Amino acid sequence: MKNITLKFLALFFPLQLLLIYVLKQNPTWVEDYYSTSFFLFISQLQHYLTSWIPFSLGDLFYSILVIIMLMWVFRLFKTKFRRMRTRLLEALAFVSLIYFLFHLFWGFNYYRLPLHQSLGISTDYTKEELQEFTCDLIQKTNSLHSELVSNDSLKVDYEFRQIQLQKLVFEAYRNSVNQDIKIPYRVENLKKSLFSLPLSYGGFSGYVNPFTNEGQYNYKIPKYKLPTTMAHEIGHQLGYSKENEANFIASIITMEDENRFLRYSGLTFALKYSLNDMYKKDPLLSEALIAELNSGVLKNYKEVQEFWQAYTGPVELIMETVYGNYLKANNQPQGMESYSYVVALLVNYYQQKQIINH
Ligand SMILES: [Zn+2]
Repeated sequence: MKNITLKFLALFFPLQLLLIYVLKQNPTWVEDYYSTSFFLFISQLQHYLTSWIPFSLGDLFYSILVIIMLMWVFRLFKTKFRRMRTRLLEALAFVSLIYFLFHLFWGFNYYRLPLHQSLGISTDYTKEELQEFTCDLIQKTNSLHSELVSNDSLKVDYEFRQIQLQKLVFEAYRNSVNQDIKIPYRVENLKKSLFSLPLSYGGFSGYVNPFTNEGQYNYKIPKYKLPTTMAHEIGHQLGYSKENEANFIASIITMEDENRFLRYSGLTFALKYSLNDMYKKDPLLSEALIAELNSGVLKNYKEVQEFWQAYTGPVELIMETVYGNYLKANNQPQGMESYSYVVALLVNYYQQKQIINH
């Protein structure tokens, strides 16, 4: 690249930081001028450009980025660290360009209005309210579980191919009559991740590539987990960048769907968050509630737990730290812990909108 372009990009970086700082103070600007307008246009365009490609273009893009970075390091050594100023300028220009594209295509959504504000619900709830919500989920989970298996002690088996689950989740979004969640999603754009093995070791079920808006899922995870994972990634594609908000949307979409398997995934997903939250508030009560679950439901939970255990190791710890820092850098100061905020959304939304009809 020409020196002048490099200098321009490098100077552009602090300006971007300033812009982010201003946007953080003004979430309504982001909501109005980006998330519900420009982003919808750009994400549709990305879907039309990438959805017909059978593999993940975004994964290929990531691989190229890594090669570029390795080449930069290689040149550094080859030139014996001479012309350091140019090398550093190149690095800053590169970071600035990636940072800009990341925000332009998706990342500004981190600074939109918090979901509870756009839904007009509070985030406060008492232990009693949580208990009522959890009991209701348990009852619904148990009765659905009994419908899906011949014996309460059996786990629910998902005799679907991954592509079928993908279709079902896409249909769930398309058929959703929920007026509260804005769903401008008309193009199916979910793909198997090319990096599913490293993802398993890192403890990740999926991710959205902000540069192409393709949703990738880890195809190695148990099928029972796929519906909520896919729904979560679609939530990100719709512009709900934050983890807890994507989890909330995944719960609502799957729990409200007419397909019983999707509902089972959704109910147990929401239930797990509620029980974990209850455990922090009242461990004994949480254990008493767990004891009410059909033993087959616990087997589904166990299956997932065992899957992740098979892949735990130092990589997972490193990834958690890296991802935790990424979340902190992107307006989710609680890092990985912010995942439990989903309960606040669920309890209040359920209370105020009475949504779970099934
Ligand atoms: Zn996510």
